Amino acid sequence: MTRVRPRSPSAAGPRATMRGVTDAPTPDAPSGTPRPTTGPIRDPRPGLSGLEPDVLAAWFAARSQPAYRGRQVADAIWAGGSGGARTGAEVRTLPAALRGEVDAAFRFDTLTATEVRPGDGGQTEKALHRLSDGALVESVLMHYPARGANRQRDTVCISSQAGCAVGCPFCATGELGFTRDLETAEIVDQVRAAARRLTAAGRRLTNVVFMGMGEPLLNLDRVLEAVTALSDPHRFGLGARHITVSTSGVVPGIRRLTALGPQFTLAVSLHAARDPLRDVLVPLNRRWPVAEVVAAARDHAEVTGRRISYEVTLIDGVNDTPADAAAMADLLRGDLCHVNLIPMNPVAHTPWRASPMDRIEGFAARLRQDRIAVTIRRNRGQEIGAACGQLAAERAGEPAAPVVARRRELLVRDSTAALRAVGG
Ligand code: SAH
Ligand code: SF4
Repeated sequence: MTRVRPRSPSAAGPRATMRGVTDAPTPDAPSGTPRPTTGPIRDPRPGLSGLEPDVLAAWFAARSQPAYRGRQVADAIWAGGSGGARTGAEVRTLPAALRGEVDAAFRFDTLTATEVRPGDGGQTEKALHRLSDGALVESVLMHYPARGANRQRDTVCISSQAGCAVGCPFCATGELGFTRDLETAEIVDQVRAAARRLTAAGRRLTNVVFMGMGEPLLNLDRVLEAVTALSDPHRFGLGARHITVSTSGVVPGIRRLTALGPQFTLAVSLHAARDPLRDVLVPLNRRWPVAEVVAAARDHAEVTGRRISYEVTLIDGVNDTPADAAAMADLLRGDLCHVNLIPMNPVAHTPWRASPMDRIEGFAARLRQDRIAVTIRRNRGQEIGAACGQLAAERAGEPAAPVVARRRELLVRDSTAALRAVGG
């Protein structure tokens, strides 16, 4: 049984609706559909980008339509990785009556509205998407200019769930609680939305990372379907090597991926190498302790030949001590892996801050001493934090000051006890 902290399912529900957003045109509901009285209900029509191509082909065949009709819809949806159509009306190759039928049966876009907020002098764009039932999810588009031998990259960081049940205390999504798993098309459509914006700017999407809201390995079936659609050359067409999925350490999910063989780059959010501290930072650690997580990741790297990325969010005075660095070096020495050190992006409900850069550099040096590959992600903390529920949390409204104060007090108590337990 998992000992994940139970969260209120309503936390990101009705409170977390978008204000001031213009709805994109969506097809009319079929006549006779009852109007919801308590807020939006989930649209039952499947999203086209989440369908296997043969499902669409069978749908047209059942209507005695030629097979090329299915391909016309697919071409409109994927448009060579440029984002594609949002409504049936855009698919001019289909006769109008058939367009209406496709619209009544499927959704061209499962994101009913998107609010985009530019940041970082145009290098980052945060997007808050509303889904058909009003749930909110975030994605972030990050532009990395060409540097030396590295070509320019445009990476989108996407969500796999609305909210998250894992409840890491430094994460805004963790604080929101869990609302629901995303459907395959709701995952893929975040990528299509980013690709559409890039296409309009004359650029192309190069990478996808599952580092937004949610724990991808707790919605693994849908995540695998989304990755298949994104990497299929006849659909979105992004190489699987350009897709990274990050997990907080769901061991059975990692093992399942290992059995499937190389699918994408696997990132593991490590944050601490010693159980008492990781129990606080990643509550899932009480279910799957760090040694089990790293053993599963090691097997994955050995079987697939692909190195694991370990993500370590460094928090001032909490997990950035020389003892933490030494314990991490002991844990990872000799493994096929790469460690990313990320300064924590501050969030409202914690008293914690990013570690100072000299301490991060000391941490990196200690890992390198054991020949562990390390990168310090100077800005990425903010970028990832931005994708990790901060906009949705902002929409949900700040909790009352005494609630925040109590939450901070408990965090300090738990982390201080954990530090004492590990002798920090
Ligand atoms: N649930 C998955 C994927 C989404 S979180 C996971 O935890 O791996 C993606 C990354 O953002 C994780 O490494 C997480 O630890 C990091 N993150 C979350 N909140 C952050 C913050 N406030 N500052 C820096 N990194 C953060
Ligand atoms: Fe969930 Fe990842 Fe945030 Fe932890 S860091 S609460 S696992 S989204």
